[in-house]
Amino acid sequence: MTKPYGYNGKIALIDLPDGGLRVLEPGEDWYRIHGGGGLLGAALLMTETRPGLDALGPENLLIFTSSVVAGQLAPGLARFSVVCKSPLTGGIAETRCEGPFGSFLKGSGFDAIAVRGRATIPSYIQVEDGAIRVVEARELWGMDTLATARKLKAAAGREDVSVAAIGVAGENLVRYASIVVDGSIQAMRMGVGAVMGSKKLKALVLVGSSLPPLADEEVVERVRQAFARDIETNTLCKFQKEDPGFAAYADLSDVETAYMGRDNYRGTVDHSLPSLARDRFLEHCVGMVACPGCPNDCIKIIDAGDRVDPSSAIHQEVTASLGPNVGNHDLGLLLEVNKACNLLGLDPVSTGFSISFAMECLEAGIITKAGLGGLDARFGNNAVLLPLIKMIASREGYGDALAEGVRRASARIGRGSERFALHVKGLEMVSFEPRTMTNLALGYATAPVGPRYDICEHDWDYDVTAGWGHTLELSRTLGILDRIPMQYVGPDKVRNYKALNTIWSACDALDICVFASAPTRALSLDMMADLVAGITGWKTSSWEIMRFGERRNHLMRLYNLREGLTADDDTLPSRFFEEPIGQGRLKGSVLDRDSFGAAIRSYYAMMGWDGQGIPLKETLLDQHLESYAPL
Ligand code: SF4
Repeated sequence: MTKPYGYNGKIALIDLPDGGLRVLEPGEDWYRIHGGGGLLGAALLMTETRPGLDALGPENLLIFTSSVVAGQLAPGLARFSVVCKSPLTGGIAETRCEGPFGSFLKGSGFDAIAVRGRATIPSYIQVEDGAIRVVEARELWGMDTLATARKLKAAAGREDVSVAAIGVAGENLVRYASIVVDGSIQAMRMGVGAVMGSKKLKALVLVGSSLPPLADEEVVERVRQAFARDIETNTLCKFQKEDPGFAAYADLSDVETAYMGRDNYRGTVDHSLPSLARDRFLEHCVGMVACPGCPNDCIKIIDAGDRVDPSSAIHQEVTASLGPNVGNHDLGLLLEVNKACNLLGLDPVSTGFSISFAMECLEAGIITKAGLGGLDARFGNNAVLLPLIKMIASREGYGDALAEGVRRASARIGRGSERFALHVKGLEMVSFEPRTMTNLALGYATAPVGPRYDICEHDWDYDVTAGWGHTLELSRTLGILDRIPMQYVGPDKVRNYKALNTIWSACDALDICVFASAPTRALSLDMMADLVAGITGWKTSSWEIMRFGERRNHLMRLYNLREGLTADDDTLPSRFFEEPIGQGRLKGSVLDRDSFGAAIRSYYAMMGWDGQGIPLKETLLDQHLESYAPL
């Protein structure tokens, strides 16, 4: 077989504890259908795992995956995905991470590395110039993610090393534990770190990187230059690139936008929060995490003590989930708890919503201070945040219930606590308001991975009153022609959602970073097609790029159906149907069950699914997915 351009054409399946290796070489047509990221991962779960397995059992497959283009040194390609069965939802887990690891993954000689089984004693897997070995790592168990990365880099004895590791949270099977790259940035949602911990796998260490050659360096270079030029004028790219980067946005939620929930969504941030203003973040912005090949420089190191500490890298979602969501407006503390989550390997979003769940339960008298180890965990009592985070990671006291995620915690606690357990399909909510942003509401409810803040470009970008100037013009390429009120629900909104979600789903299927990408950022759909063509040598089109996005949604849906999820799981917590926004321009906004249900059915139909959200056989045939479901 001729060697492909841009990718490796090989997938490694590693068995623990013995390190047995099977290498799949599925051929170019397979890659042309499955691309990478969540799409490739879903394909492996469908073919290499049995239905109904325990997500925390040895049979689960933990997949680190690149794509046919990701990992190459070009704009937006510094991403990889982690895919497995989620211990929170029972459906597919898919999460992404930027930084250097994605390039090492592509340079490892494999497009994906999947791990099955369980080590008998704590171990790590090292892939060095294509050779794979399993190494015992008793001494690393209990170590934080940064110390682990440093130790393993030193042990490798080379500079060109990247480490994806779990912390104490993953070891203790906290159901929303994450995987942390180089002690710094996280593959953070859906409990992928717990799955790694269940395998007694402390780390995946990639040593050395030899990227497959590009088909046409000139085409790729043209995209590099165009992107570097365009990020200087693109509003959102500039916002991300200029210090303090994309985590500093809390002051954009105001009386006009009301886009960020507070206090477990009891309310919405509709006024400026001076202590979380952008210039306050800037005071502590001391560095950044480089994404190889991408000049957008989004991920900043913002450290309370003004030290350049890799574990102080901060991602967008943290600001809200461990800020206003738990009543915290103290930037210094926000940075401390972010660092704690990175070191412990805890998803800061699910952690934030588990804490806000406990806070609301306490204030409602459902649980007691004594039950929380004496912590007076009320909204705004910031002193409890770090202790609670440590209790969750180590599963001490009530931390053990909270470590199960809010759905299971509320089932254990009872007494009406389920109304404060804000989750979809078992995954904790994110902090961007579904009552005022109905594209997001639709995405949170229907996405195979549950609520995700980057399920699509946010509604307020397109709002008739608050929308940003450049968004509509750039989105016309997707057929979005008019501004629509951000809180409105109706068929034309569903049409926009489908377009906005499909393009970012395509990014996820190719591990192209959405922070670089269309519709509103500098990497246009045509540039994505040029990257695929220049890297792989395939003659392609923006049509084929969008098809990757559609196919990813269909195949993940099939996996979830196989695992027992149904249309009944495509809903939102009752709070969003029953408690209107209380103040500001969007006062009174609340989701109406009937209109929202109609929007979901409309979305199913637009997707080529039946009334129960099951893909039609013609849809599967049209998408080359017929082999995954009997026709
Ligand atoms: S857009 Fe930002 S986060 Fe994405 S790859 Fe580029 S620098 Fe990294």
